[in-house]
Amino acid sequence: MKKILFDLTDSELEQFVTDMGLPRFRAKQIREWLNRGAPNFSVMKNLPTELREKLDSVAKTLPVKIVQKLESNDNQTTKFLLELNDCEQIECVLMRTTYGNSVCVSSQAGCAMGCKFCASTLLGLKRNLTVNEMFAQVLIAQWELRGDKLKDTHPNGDANNNDVSHIVVMGTGEPLQNTENVIGFLERANKDLNISWRRITVSTCGIVPGIDALNTCGRPINLAISLHAPDDDLRAQIMPINNRYKIQEVLDAAFKFSETHNRQLMIEYILLGKKNEHGEIELFNSTPEHAEKLSDLMHGHNVMVNLIPWNAVDERDFASISGNAVHRFQDILIKNGIHTRIRRERGADIGSACGQLRLKSARK
Ligand code: SAH
Repeated sequence: MKKILFDLTDSELEQFVTDMGLPRFRAKQIREWLNRGAPNFSVMKNLPTELREKLDSVAKTLPVKIVQKLESNDNQTTKFLLELNDCEQIECVLMRTTYGNSVCVSSQAGCAMGCKFCASTLLGLKRNLTVNEMFAQVLIAQWELRGDKLKDTHPNGDANNNDVSHIVVMGTGEPLQNTENVIGFLERANKDLNISWRRITVSTCGIVPGIDALNTCGRPINLAISLHAPDDDLRAQIMPINNRYKIQEVLDAAFKFSETHNRQLMIEYILLGKKNEHGEIELFNSTPEHAEKLSDLMHGHNVMVNLIPWNAVDERDFASISGNAVHRFQDILIKNGIHTRIRRERGADIGSACGQLRLKSARK
């Protein structure tokens, strides 16, 4: 297996270059490229061509390699299928928005949670990702935005439009099954890339001890809870984790987190329909009664309910509901004084919903 230079410490990298018979300063040059997210050695312009070729034959730059890169028709969304050193594949998505550049990071290869509407979990969990494997996803996006250009300092200190400014841990996997590495990764993103805690969001299906651990680590990040149903019976039908942690227990831990850090809690709610025997789409978790129940759960708390249109997954027997049904659901939340918005669909044309690209690649 080729050595991954990004994973070496500074002294190990020095040792590596001196073992190759090179002067020490090469280690520093290589490190600068690695920190910028150089995807391969051929971009390292201040190294002689023969050296770049030699490095390529014995080493890799980052712990992730781009297998496929897809651009959405909106020109704002880029999705990467990435390969890890053990050939597992993961996905990450770069979204350019008016408020900054956001990267959606995967925390595991596969997922064990078994949610009935999701593609990521269909092949089960392969393994947790390391700190470097998560950090490298952000570097891949950073390189996509900036290429080999160095960061220029903006006079008013604002983030440049070629910086990654936001991280959402909402890719494949359950971050709170890999809490220690996720926290390590976020600490690193904050320290090395200067990404503000308040522009980082971790999304969980509701693992209570993990939420408590995030709380203990004391960083004022945003927490998102994938709720998707307003009562335990319905939620258990689509999210097996509900058999372990009930809605109220999850919400209590989440409200505590948001109050401690004075952050608005994000609630994710996919609006699902299901086909009946006549082929008609019936509302599954998205009737007006469900909206009333959801309002009751949220009442009096600092929350934003993010309504998510379901991204169709062939293997799953749910259906998207009409735009009007989405609006009617939202209007009930608004009437009840609950903050809510409808998540803009991004990158649906490139299979940006959890795990679809990876699934397709694994089935080839
Ligand atoms: N395991 C974490 C993070 C990954 S999933 C969690 O459950 O929050 C990120 C979000 O995408 C979750 O809210 C998840 O429920 C949602 N999601 C999964 N499959 C989807 C699909 N096909 N369409 C829309 N959203 C989906």
